[in-house]
Amino acid sequence: MDDCIFCKMANGEIRPDVVYEDDQVLAFRDLNPQAPTHVLVIPRRHIGTLNELGPSDAELVGRLFLAAREVAQAEGIAERGYRTLINCNAEAGQSVFHVHLHVLGGRRMHWPPG
Ligand code: 5GP
Ligand code: ZN
Repeated sequence: MDDCIFCKMANGEIRPDVVYEDDQVLAFRDLNPQAPTHVLVIPRRHIGTLNELGPSDAELVGRLFLAAREVAQAEGIAERGYRTLINCNAEAGQSVFHVHLHVLGGRRMHWPPG
């Protein structure tokens, strides 16, 4: 996707503050952090929303969460606790249409979410 900012990060055109990467997944700090740790984990391949994932993406989805686990360990929040979430489409507040898993921690999270 030529005009997708997260694709530009995945292909190296834009270099965000990367905290984890492998052949399929990239994790970087959110530009507008909502917690002391706020990292986005993305698939390198463009997938617009959670709705577009299919059975063949099962391993990739698992890799997003394994990367989140690595990030939480590295950030020192794994034992204290952290939140992972994916916003899907308008009512959830999705603003970048390339699937991304938020990893939030370093402060107490509230429930229910806003
Ligand atoms: P969404 O609202 O789609 O779930 O989350 C999009 C996230 O991407 C937001 O938290 C926003 O701050 C972050 N974001 C948007 N543009 C950029 C960018 O250019 N760089 C980084 N690092 N984060 C971005
Ligand atoms: Zn993309």
